Amino acid sequence: MAGLYFHIPFCKQACYYCDFHFSTNQQIKSTLVEALVRELTLQQNFLADETIHTIYFGGGTPSILTKEEIEMLLSAAKEYYPVHPDAEITLEANPDDLDEGKLADLKRAGINRLSIGIQTFHNDLLRFMNRAHNAATALNAFQNARKVDFNNISIDLIYAIPGETEEQWLEDIRQVIELQPEHVSCYSLTVEEKTVFGKWSTAGKLNVVEDDLAAQQLELLMDELDRAGYEHYEISNFAKPGYYSRHNSSYWRQQNYLGIGPSAHSYNGAIRQFNISNNHLYVKAIEQNNVPAQTEVLTTENKINEYILTTLRTHWGTNLDYLKQHHNIDLLKENSVYLDQLFEKGLVVLNQNVLTLTRKGKLMADRIASDLFVVEK
Ligand code: SF4
Repeated sequence: MAGLYFHIPFCKQACYYCDFHFSTNQQIKSTLVEALVRELTLQQNFLADETIHTIYFGGGTPSILTKEEIEMLLSAAKEYYPVHPDAEITLEANPDDLDEGKLADLKRAGINRLSIGIQTFHNDLLRFMNRAHNAATALNAFQNARKVDFNNISIDLIYAIPGETEEQWLEDIRQVIELQPEHVSCYSLTVEEKTVFGKWSTAGKLNVVEDDLAAQQLELLMDELDRAGYEHYEISNFAKPGYYSRHNSSYWRQQNYLGIGPSAHSYNGAIRQFNISNNHLYVKAIEQNNVPAQTEVLTTENKINEYILTTLRTHWGTNLDYLKQHHNIDLLKENSVYLDQLFEKGLVVLNQNVLTLTRKGKLMADRIASDLFVVEK
């Protein structure tokens, strides 16, 4: 069981917080799509014929692809890889691309799950982050998607936006609940150095939201979505029963995946591969039948740390027996003093040798995971 990811590295405009790989120059879009198809043929051995259960178009902004481009990529995927007939096929979309005609095209092209990047329903915050849409467009996009029978929709939200009031955050959450998407992904805004926000922050022009306030916003989200019947199955992800993202769940459960496109990552249990983050150099290399990627052979410590980081954030938790069986490490013994402190503070619980975060622990998930990391000898 494996996943396939396509990175579509184009956006209409740059959001001020974003440090993903994308270009606002779309001149080589069709050439790049052809290169993605060719990369599929070049990478055929990476997953050793494993069945593909999920396909994910991420970016960038995949909703700028035409129906024909999506069809071309999906038919190539099915030609060169064993794609399961019921595969989850997700496309990340920006609201400003989603009129009814476009949505009908996406549906006909074979997309069966949408992830809509709404982020907030407040126009002042959308403008502040330089998003290309407004709140009315976001609501229309969601309603249009329902009209053309998309019945598996995820909404992306951002919290900890500088200047956002508690009231605005609560309104965003309640608006999402009113729309009743099957899934909600919600990330705290982080200020990355090379972004516009990063530059403003360095110049003292941006007040980054304090961790305590961000944690309060996450708590509010957890409370409201829990009351509305959503399961909190990963720190940043909530779903109605039966609607967990199969694609992301497969990452968190260490299943293999192949990433196609500039900046895409791949993992097959033994190595991790990172494609070059440059559209022109990517296309040039692929045209010469080379995959422009760096490869990292994972050490035992890498594998253990990756396992801890991804599993501790999920409601399935970190299975200590798995670590013992696969990597010969007794995490309880190695970290007895630290784990005792976590148990005492009520941050983690241990059940049938599976370590999971409590509600309080979820507010500091990454910190706890990194404290448990194994150091290379
Ligand atoms: S649309 Fe998405 S990928 Fe593009 S700049 Fe904005 S956040 Fe980044």
